[in-house]
Amino acid sequence: MAQDTLAQRWKHVRERVDAACRTAGRDPSEVTILPVSKTHPPEVIEQALALGLHRFGENRVQEIRDKAAALPDRGVEWVVIGHLQTNKAKYVAQLAAEIQSLDRLDLAEALQRRLELEGRELDALVQVKTSPEPSKYGLPPAQLIDFLDTLRDYPRLRVRGLMTMAVQSEDDAAVRACFRMLHELRDRARTAGHDLPRLSMGMSGDFGLAIAEGSTEVRIGTAIFGARDSV
Ligand SMILES: *Cc1c(COP(=O)(O)O)cnc(C)c1O
Repeated sequence: MAQDTLAQRWKHVRERVDAACRTAGRDPSEVTILPVSKTHPPEVIEQALALGLHRFGENRVQEIRDKAAALPDRGVEWVVIGHLQTNKAKYVAQLAAEIQSLDRLDLAEALQRRLELEGRELDALVQVKTSPEPSKYGLPPAQLIDFLDTLRDYPRLRVRGLMTMAVQSEDDAAVRACFRMLHELRDRARTAGHDLPRLSMGMSGDFGLAIAEGSTEVRIGTAIFGARDSV
């Protein structure tokens, strides 16, 4: 049954994350898993809810809207992990529990305004571009401290940490360098007065390296939900 498969995959991923923690000399309780349910239908999320999962990463606002409508009053926390157009801020302010792809000022402005209208606050991670690939989004590292300073003027966004996507590469050293950069930026931000406890880094293919470099949260899609037709 599909449910058994999902349950087994979930258990297996948690075991692999725990093992990666032990290899890195870390306590498994330091690393949470964000299941990434993008492209998978509400029925699959129903199965995940039955396993006790309730936070899900999604990268398209329209998909969050559809799934939230299909799963009302289930206590689901939707986490935005994909590039967000400013004109979609309204829906994020209404529906999301958190955004991990906060990467520019006009988006922060739009979210702050919409959150004020909704009477809500949103947890936020700043996405930093640690990879040279042009396809990757994120704030340039050199702008991080100034950006964090400016975000103090947007109190509806509760900035909790940083997020990144590593370079897609067979070269472990290159992947690790991205994760290490995020960790170092976090330490530098702390020195500048910004306490950012959370580091969201690592996906199905590279979470072991991310955990070795200090990840506190891995975003796992494929290894939990299976392959996607499209991203
Ligand atoms: C899709 C996605 C993931 C999960 O990727 P998998 O390789 O399927 O685990 C993680 N983070 C972001 C930002 C994504 O878009």
